[in-house]
Amino acid sequence: MRKNIVAGNWKMNKTFPEAEKLMKDLLAYKSKESTHCQVSIVPPSIYLSLAREIFKNKEVGLFSQDVSKHSHGAYTGEISAAMLQSMQLDGSLVAHSERRAYHRENDTLAKEKINALLAAGLRPIYCNGESLEERKAGKHLEVVKKQTETALFGLSEEEIKKVIIAYEPVWAIGTGETASPNQAQEIHSLIRNLIAEKYGRETAEEISILYGGSVKPDNAKEIFSKPDVDGGLIGGASLVLEDFIKIIQAFD
Ligand code: PEP
Repeated sequence: MRKNIVAGNWKMNKTFPEAEKLMKDLLAYKSKESTHCQVSIVPPSIYLSLAREIFKNKEVGLFSQDVSKHSHGAYTGEISAAMLQSMQLDGSLVAHSERRAYHRENDTLAKEKINALLAAGLRPIYCNGESLEERKAGKHLEVVKKQTETALFGLSEEEIKKVIIAYEPVWAIGTGETASPNQAQEIHSLIRNLIAEKYGRETAEEISILYGGSVKPDNAKEIFSKPDVDGGLIGGASLVLEDFIKIIQAFD
C-alpha cells in the first residue's frame, strides 16, 4: 500500500543556527513520538550535510530542493544525483513551481532530472499543477494530464513506483489560498487514473500523491482525509516546528 508522507520544503529560509535548531527540535519530537506518516524535510542544499549528521539514523527523510540533469562536470552551482546519493539522501524535488517560474523549468527538463535521480537509486518528488489563469479557463485537468504524461510516462513500471508526485496548484503556493479538499481530490484521482490506465491499477495504488499549497494545521486533516491524497508538501508551515508537528499529527 502507498505511504502517507509529510515533507517540509524549507525553500530559501533559515540561517545555519536556525536550521540546526529546527532539525534538532524535529529530531527530539521524532525520538519521543511515533508518527503515522513518513516525515521528510527538504532544506536548502547547503544544510543537507548537517541534516544527514543530525538524522543519522534516518529518523526523517532528506530531499534536496533541486538536482542537475547532468551527471557531473562544468555546471557551476549545480548538484548531481550522484552527490545526493553519496550523502545517502532519499532524493530531490523536481520541477517545483518556483523552479518553473524563476528558472524556466518545464516537464521535458523534469523528465531528465527524474531519470538522473532514478539512475542513481534516488526518489524524485515530482511537482506539477496549474496556474490561476489555467484554472480560470477550465484547463486544469488538461494541464496536469499533459505535465504528468510528459514528465513520467517514459518511465518503466518499476521506475514510476519510486516517484512521489506532489500536486501543487500554483495559485495556492505561498498565497494562503488552498485548493478545497474536493478540488485536490479531483486532480489526485485524475493523476492516479492516468497512471492506472498506463501502468495498471496495482501500480497506481502504490504511488503516493501529495498535495501542496498553503497546507496549515487547521486544514491539513480535511485535505489528507481525501482518498487519493497521501500527504502534503508543506512550505511556510514547515518552518515553524509546532505547525509542522500539527500537520504531521493530522494522520494520527
Ligand atoms: C511548497 O513550497 O511546495 C508549498 C506548498 O508552499 P506553501 O505551503 O507555503 O504554500
